[in-house]
Amino acid sequence: MKIAKLAAAAVGLIVVTGLAACGSSTKTVDQEQAGGTAGALVGVTMPTRSSERWIHDGENLKSQLEALGYKVDLQYAENDIPTQVNQIENQITKGAKLLVIASIDGTAITTQLQEAADKHIPVIAYDRLIRKSPNVDYYATFDNYKVGVQQATSLLVGLGLKKADGSDGTAKGPFNIELFAGSPDDNNATFFFNGAMDTLKPFIDKGTLVVKSGETDFKTVAILRWDPATAQRRMEDLLTKTYAKGAKVQGVLSPYDGLSIGILSALKSSGYGTAGQPYPIVTGQDAEVASVKSIIAGEQYATIYKDTRELAKVTVKMADAVLKGGTPEVNNTKDYDNGVKVVPSYLLEPVVVYKDNYKATLIDTGYYTEDQLK
Ligand code: BGC
Repeated sequence: MKIAKLAAAAVGLIVVTGLAACGSSTKTVDQEQAGGTAGALVGVTMPTRSSERWIHDGENLKSQLEALGYKVDLQYAENDIPTQVNQIENQITKGAKLLVIASIDGTAITTQLQEAADKHIPVIAYDRLIRKSPNVDYYATFDNYKVGVQQATSLLVGLGLKKADGSDGTAKGPFNIELFAGSPDDNNATFFFNGAMDTLKPFIDKGTLVVKSGETDFKTVAILRWDPATAQRRMEDLLTKTYAKGAKVQGVLSPYDGLSIGILSALKSSGYGTAGQPYPIVTGQDAEVASVKSIIAGEQYATIYKDTRELAKVTVKMADAVLKGGTPEVNNTKDYDNGVKVVPSYLLEPVVVYKDNYKATLIDTGYYTEDQLK
């Protein structure tokens, strides 16, 4: 008994000593960082300027970090992976103390992240999860699965199969639809598609929705780099292959406003968008100006509004906490497994925008002025 107690005490001692040693070594790094981080350089890399949202994201992050006294190196890579790799490498060389990264390909920067980790530079994945690396400390994003659910719901609402409050609509169908997904190297694209397909599947199974081309798997419908021209070409091909003999497409699941614009323009060239042949219900994401105007004009049916000001705010709060040696607030520690670890995340809420609520969602919140949407 005595021996057992002694042994237990000894184990306890070892554990306590171990913890203390562990704690103090962690502290040294944190303290070093905290001491050296006032006014530190933060590296921010964004995928592209070709889409409005990333311009806003970058500007918001920069101004909010600068307001806290940090210096910011903000870079755009125009969707070119080697460019983004170089930009991250340069930021590490320039002595950045923290990196905020919206990746192009979430698996292509593993080496750079290892370099960052070796230099104790923390990394925050911004909007898009960085995959296959243990060196991602935090993730700030929107509830991406929910974005997909909302996109599919807006399609169902447009077709009359659901009401905006989620209750059943009065339409019976069947309706012809086609599906698009985002870039296969962007982790978000899978989340959007899964959320959407879980919502549409019961209707597809019942035959109320018919994907007439038969193209329903993610790989087939994904659009590399979210490129509007690729989406336009795919829609043109679908219209010639599947809808040449008089059948009409009544709904298109589009995961991003840029793609929706390409899709609508293919539809227009094929005779849609007239009184006799209205556009199908086309969804979107990001509430980009051109698409909100299109919604107001009755062309695109809906989009998903993700307040990039809020995303920047959450990210800057995270960055500031980490740089000061603290622990940032997160609200999800289970959904974002990057293949190596579950990355602690902060998820924001997306909102569906229709023609009848764009004023309340986008203008009353100060996201856009009325003039910008004219
Ligand atoms: C973002 C979307 C955006 C898409 C294309 C995704 O990772 O979450 O908001 O529409 O990239 O830029």
